[in-house]
Amino acid sequence: MTMTSSAREEFPLPGLDDVRAAAGRIDGIALRTPLVPSPPLSDETGRSVLLKLETLQPIGAFKLRGAANAVARLPAEHAARGVTCASTGNHGRAVAYAARRQGVPAIVCMSELVPDYKVRAIETLGAEARILGRSQDDAQKEVDRLVAEEGLAEVPPFDHFDVVAGQGTIALEMLADAPQLDSILVPLSGGGLIGGIALAAKALKPEIRIVGISMERGAAMQASLAAGRPVEVEELPTLADSLGGGIGLANRYTFPLVRDLVDQVILLDEPQIARGMRWLFDEEGLVVEGGGAVGVSALLDGLVEAPGESVGVVVSGRNVGRRQFLDAIGY
Ligand SMILES: *Cc1c(COP(=O)(O)O)cnc(C)c1O
Repeated sequence: MTMTSSAREEFPLPGLDDVRAAAGRIDGIALRTPLVPSPPLSDETGRSVLLKLETLQPIGAFKLRGAANAVARLPAEHAARGVTCASTGNHGRAVAYAARRQGVPAIVCMSELVPDYKVRAIETLGAEARILGRSQDDAQKEVDRLVAEEGLAEVPPFDHFDVVAGQGTIALEMLADAPQLDSILVPLSGGGLIGGIALAAKALKPEIRIVGISMERGAAMQASLAAGRPVEVEELPTLADSLGGGIGLANRYTFPLVRDLVDQVILLDEPQIARGMRWLFDEEGLVVEGGGAVGVSALLDGLVEAPGESVGVVVSGRNVGRRQFLDAIGY
């Protein structure tokens, strides 16, 4: 096979119409979450700060949007055989829930390093949890086998047209509720969340600023942006465990979206992540996982360049173990 066309033509990026279509497909499965004012954060920062509470999704994280859209778009033969994914938790929960709601069998593959409560959550949602190996790579090998030998369809966590379009529905809701937003702060790992938000938000409002926040410990997207191509980084334990993992050396969608549309990327150390979690608990009564709190952390520490008057913060998930949460908030 000759590769005469560019990779870009082979893998066109989703656009605003794809995000709008996704919103219709996921309606009734994923929640249209509230965008609530935060008086304490507004007071602290001197800006009008609004929190997009993806913590309220049925599985406790935004990933349901992308998974529900991808499952809805499956060809009939895949829908009959089932879906699979390799996940450190939130994506697995999302695929399990989205599949069950749409009558599709699901096998979620994960490594032994994933905490027990996350494994149980996936089983409770009606999927088979298949645990193998000590790394995401081992889990991914089983996914590849299920796809090749048993004909299941993989729903990847971020680098997928329908997943990115699904996550972008967050931006449609935020700008419908608060057209005045000057910037949106978004937790960043593989870039499905920020990629979808950035493409939809900038299509609706080109001057809006989109800021990504990752942890210092294993920020694969930031390292890839610096290198000008997807690169691997060492994976290290972090409070923001839902932000761990690489972006994929064969990345098709999220690397170009983040490179072209994201205005600033901020990296946080562990105490900064903990501070955001503590603040959300103390001031807002919200239990938020490390990866979900980083937007608030970045804002509190004054790290966002030119946030403007009106700032939207995506609070992306609430799935944290009790011990880890209590340690983080200092009990
Ligand atoms: C997956 C996840 C993210 C990061 O999303 P990407 O699309 O990988 O960038 C942020 N917060 C939570 C809670 C997540 O589960």
